[in-house]
Amino acid sequence: MWVLGVTGGIGSGKTTVTDLFAALGIVVVDADRIARAIMEPGSTALNAVSERYGAQALLTDGTLNRRWLRERVFSDPTEKAWLNQLTHPLIRQQLLEQLKQARSPYVILSAPLLLENKLTTLCDRVLVVDVSPTTQRERTMARDQVSSAQVEAIIQAQASRAERLAAADDIIHNDGPQHELGPQVEHLHELYLKLASPALQPDGKPL
Ligand code: ADP
Repeated sequence: MWVLGVTGGIGSGKTTVTDLFAALGIVVVDADRIARAIMEPGSTALNAVSERYGAQALLTDGTLNRRWLRERVFSDPTEKAWLNQLTHPLIRQQLLEQLKQARSPYVILSAPLLLENKLTTLCDRVLVVDVSPTTQRERTMARDQVSSAQVEAIIQAQASRAERLAAADDIIHNDGPQHELGPQVEHLHELYLKLASPALQPDGKPL
C-alpha cells in the first residue's frame, strides 16, 4: 500500500485537509485517534497508567484524565519516556494494522508528530500543511479555547516550521480562506493516484 504521510503543527489544518482527501475516497489513518483508542477503559495501557499514578489519572467515569496526564509528563522527561515506551509500540501496531486493511488507491497516515516519532519510515511521501505562526496561534486559540501561553508551549514541543518544511515532498499553504484548499488537494490527489499506481515506477514514470 502506498502511504502518504500528512503532518503540520497544531492548528495548521491537518484535519481540514485530510477530510478533503477522505471526501475523495481516500482512507485516513489518524495517529491521534489511535492514541486515544488505545487508552479506552479496560485497555492494557490505561491499566498501566492507573497502576503508576493512581486514581488521579482517571476521571470519575473511569476514562483517562488526559489533561492531568499531559501536565504530569509535560516537563518530566522520565515520566514522558515511560509513557512513550508504553504507548508508542501499541500505537505503531494499530497504525500498521489499519494501513494494511485500508482499501483505497492510496492511504493517508495523519500524525501531528509524524517527524518527531519517525513515522516517516512508514511513508512513501510526506505532505506538510503549512501556515504562518500568527495564523497557527489564532486558529488554535479559537478552536481549543486555550491561552496564548498554552499554545506557545505546545508549539515549542513540536518540530519547528523549518524542520517540517525540510522534510516535505509537498506543501499545502493554508493561510488563505478554506475554499482555497480544495483545488490544492485535488491537484495533489491526481499526482498521488499516479504515484500509487502499480503500473508506474516509484518516480512516477511509466514502466
Ligand atoms: P489541525 O488538525 O492541524 O490541528 P484543524 O484542521 O483542526 O488543524 O484546523 C484548525 C482550526 O482552523 C479549525 O477550527 C479549522 O476549522 C480552522 N481552519 C482550518 N483551515 C482554515 C482556513 N483556511 N481558514 C479558516 N479556518 C481554518
